Amino acid sequence: MENLAKLDIKFLHGVGPKRAEILAQELGIRSYYDLLYYFPFRYIDRSKIHKINELRQLGENGEMPYLQLKGQFAAFAVNGEGVRRRLNALFYDGTGSIDVVWFNKVKIIQESLRTGTEYIIFGKPTIYNSRYSITHPEIDPYKPEMENQGLKGVYTITDKMRNRSFSTRTIQQLIQNLLNTLKGNRIDDPLPTDIIAKYRFLPLNEALTNIHTPASVQMLQRAQFRLKYDELFFLQLDLLRHSKFRSIKNGGHRFTRVGKYFNDFYNHVLPFPLTGAQKKVIKEIRADMGSGRQMNRLLQGDVGSGKTLVALMTMLLAIDNGFQACIMAPTEILARQHYETISRLASQVGVKVALLTGSTSKKNRDIILPGLLNGDIGITVGTHALIEDTVEFARLGMVVIDEQHRFGVAQRAKLWGKNTIPPHILVMTATPIPRTLAMTVYGDLDVSIIDELPPGRKPVQTILRYDNHRHEVYRFIGSQLKAGRQIYIVYPLIQENEKLDLRNLEEGYEIIKETFPDYRVCFVHGKMKPSEKEYQMQLFVTGKAQIMVATTVIEVGVNVPNATVMLIENAERFGLSQLHQLRGRVGRGADSSYCILMSNVKISGPTRHRLEVMTQTSDGFVIAEEDMRLRGPGDMEGTQQSGIAFNLHIADIAKDGQIIQAARNDAMRIIDDDPLLTSPQNARLARQLQFLFKRKQDWSRIS
Ligand code: ADP
Ligand code: MG
Repeated sequence: MENLAKLDIKFLHGVGPKRAEILAQELGIRSYYDLLYYFPFRYIDRSKIHKINELRQLGENGEMPYLQLKGQFAAFAVNGEGVRRRLNALFYDGTGSIDVVWFNKVKIIQESLRTGTEYIIFGKPTIYNSRYSITHPEIDPYKPEMENQGLKGVYTITDKMRNRSFSTRTIQQLIQNLLNTLKGNRIDDPLPTDIIAKYRFLPLNEALTNIHTPASVQMLQRAQFRLKYDELFFLQLDLLRHSKFRSIKNGGHRFTRVGKYFNDFYNHVLPFPLTGAQKKVIKEIRADMGSGRQMNRLLQGDVGSGKTLVALMTMLLAIDNGFQACIMAPTEILARQHYETISRLASQVGVKVALLTGSTSKKNRDIILPGLLNGDIGITVGTHALIEDTVEFARLGMVVIDEQHRFGVAQRAKLWGKNTIPPHILVMTATPIPRTLAMTVYGDLDVSIIDELPPGRKPVQTILRYDNHRHEVYRFIGSQLKAGRQIYIVYPLIQENEKLDLRNLEEGYEIIKETFPDYRVCFVHGKMKPSEKEYQMQLFVTGKAQIMVATTVIEVGVNVPNATVMLIENAERFGLSQLHQLRGRVGRGADSSYCILMSNVKISGPTRHRLEVMTQTSDGFVIAEEDMRLRGPGDMEGTQQSGIAFNLHIADIAKDGQIIQAARNDAMRIIDDDPLLTSPQNARLARQLQFLFKRKQDWSRIS
């Protein structure tokens, strides 16, 4: 592999300097290795040559496939002018005829094709003017060996490549050249032989050959299985090795004591019994922080599951052991809310709590900063302002990061500098993540899950309503307002469509003001200045405004128990996890709460199904699984940040859960035996990891 990665693609037969440049620029293919691992994104069946009179029936059996026909051209004609210029031809095979159309390169194509010659054409017939026609088919003069060509890979190419006469065919040809070059040369297989035997894997070179030019459907499946496993196995091996390495190299503060602060809080202040799930995760966290290694733990729990309390008790443990703790929130508002909750509770056991955000006045900063430096302040609540270089702690031992996905990795990295031994880190997220995704994206973090809500929570009633029922929906909102409740109304604001969305939002705001003239309506969206946003939010939080019209900026964390209705406009445009987050804004008080998903009447089956999932379950994990199944892992919260889902070439986190689990188990067994992969029998694995991940930053250290 390393050798193939050193071979410049320009030396491959059929490439040369010009094509090499395009390949590098457009697809990042620079070496033989890069091309070998540029896998098809789908396959087409060229095992059969169809007859034209079979088309009608094929079309009736479902979507018309790409297929090949054998026949001759007749009657070429150039029609139209300018951009409409096109070449039409008739193609016939003795059972019927179809139209063939070209919009580009009219002249070249016309000159290259003859009547009276037999061709194989390949494409997807569509119906136009009640006749079948194929646009821009692939065309080859017929040769007998073309019968039964089997499956062919289709490769992604860019428009720029297409304009420069690069087609999927070109890639196929280059790959064929590459495979021919490699034939006979053994490709070193980095997988341990016992693993290859366990799964009866194809040898690597056969897998690679079959992924590009499958000998059969069955061989393709075996090739895919092997290569997916490879990808996931080395990823897991890397993640686990880093996490092991970290725990060996970086000692952690050993929190052994459960002391006065924790106990006083537990016995005298805690306003309710902990849920079983809260107890369980606190136990996991305690064990971790007492182990002598640095904790890097992800705490997952649905909205309202009581993560803040867990965070607070964890921070009290730090203080019991003579350290300071801090908790970081992604926004000013959330920081302030945390501050209110935490200072109210912690002050009762005599812990000093400070709030430090971007808008903390100089006067206050001048009081707080020395307090941090001399260790007076036990818990600091804040935003990004906390990680500024000017903020120094006496003995920072524990950091909680709330709503992790808004925090970049680089920002987290800064935390490490705050003490010579890095503090324990607890990352909290209210976005449930499907298990396979967590294993991959957070594969090097330990995970604790709060899978139980505090008792007595009334589920939020969720209903789907179409635009034609808007009147009733408004009437219902009116009755809630009259009862003294508050209302959220959320509009989508999605990048591609920003202008239009903004107009919808503004119109919506005007309509709401007109419809409910007796109430104050505040208005928040992400494009506002932060100070204005804060001001508007605060109107709602303090109850001065009864209705908030907003975009998803309110998604994270705002706590207004008096709000009982979440109305989501164009709900079909949101992801399920996002809808779930939004719904979590209500149902926080004693009153019954409602989430109303408004949607266009004309939404299609799958979209309707998606929204119906919301009306049927309030389990965030179920919703997350469903969301990933429907949208794919690339759009899921968390994956964007890590980039992992995008770096997978062939494995699919949504579909390959079993392979992920198997690969992780196998990797774990190896790492448990030989954490740093130093034993001779693992030398190959170590080398392969180094080869695969040499460009990757050591990001896992800083999670
Ligand atoms: P989240 O996990 O969304 O951050 P919070 O920590 O904000 O949830 O908790 C939501 C609400 O539930 C808070 O009002 C909190 O006081 C309450 N709560 C937390 N734990 C319990 C419990 N064990 N029993 C009853 N109420 C609880
Ligand atoms: Mg929270």
